[in-house]
Amino acid sequence: MPDDVTLRLDHATAEDLYATLYQVGEHIAASAAITAPTTDQAERIGHLLQDLGHRLGRACSPYCNHLS
Ligand SMILES: [Zn+2]
Repeated sequence: MPDDVTLRLDHATAEDLYATLYQVGEHIAASAAITAPTTDQAERIGHLLQDLGHRLGRACSPYCNHLS
């Protein structure tokens, strides 16, 4: 379908995405605390958000590595 967005995730990034969405859901539902990600987790989620933003056609930050 032309409107589909496809992302391919490595296992670690998929685990990070799951954990992040789960924690946000629990936070919204029950005000559960959200734990800070490790540096590696934050880096993987950052790359995922950048990739997803590109595929959605969002404007990049002026520091986006695809512009350099
Ligand atoms: Zn970009």
